[in-house]
Amino acid sequence: MRYVTLWTLWTALPLVLTAALLSPLAWADTPPPVPPTAPSPRVPALARAWPVGTRPPVLRGWRPPPTAYGPGHRGVDLAAPAGSPVRAVAPGRVLFAGRVAGRGVLSLEVRGTDLRTTYEPVRASVGEGDQVEAGEVVGTLEAGAHCGTAPCLHWGLLRGGTYLDPLTLLPPWLLNGGPSRLLPVPPAG
Ligand SMILES: [Zn+2]
Repeated sequence: MRYVTLWTLWTALPLVLTAALLSPLAWADTPPPVPPTAPSPRVPALARAWPVGTRPPVLRGWRPPPTAYGPGHRGVDLAAPAGSPVRAVAPGRVLFAGRVAGRGVLSLEVRGTDLRTTYEPVRASVGEGDQVEAGEVVGTLEAGAHCGTAPCLHWGLLRGGTYLDPLTLLPPWLLNGGPSRLLPVPPAG
């Protein structure tokens, strides 16, 4: 019996070791799961107001950067006098209201979406966590040098870390009745 046991052990051991060594290789041959690459859902045109004014001229349009850190314009610039009321374009929640590099920045989550809008330079009259309604005044436009000598609101739209064209939030009745464009807005893409 002792002989049989030893024989079994010495015979089986290399098999066990071989199996243990091979199994990671077998696993490595299995392709890793590929994350789904679903196309980005469209931006719903749920804005009910412009962020400033009623027909704000678009001083500079959205120009998506070719790379994450490349040059571009990650929003649109709307002309308005300093001190103008800045409004939430859609209902949502205040994610950030504070100063970044000396500029007043306001970021609002758009209710029911994975989108958020940003406004600057703005002196916020709301605080983080506040719920806001469409058209509600959330601050006043500050003077700034973003558009040279003309005061303007830089309006941004993000989904996660991806910048989108904020004008896509505007339904046709707002967009078409809206901006008188001083400069041509480059086509998307
Ligand atoms: Zn801008």
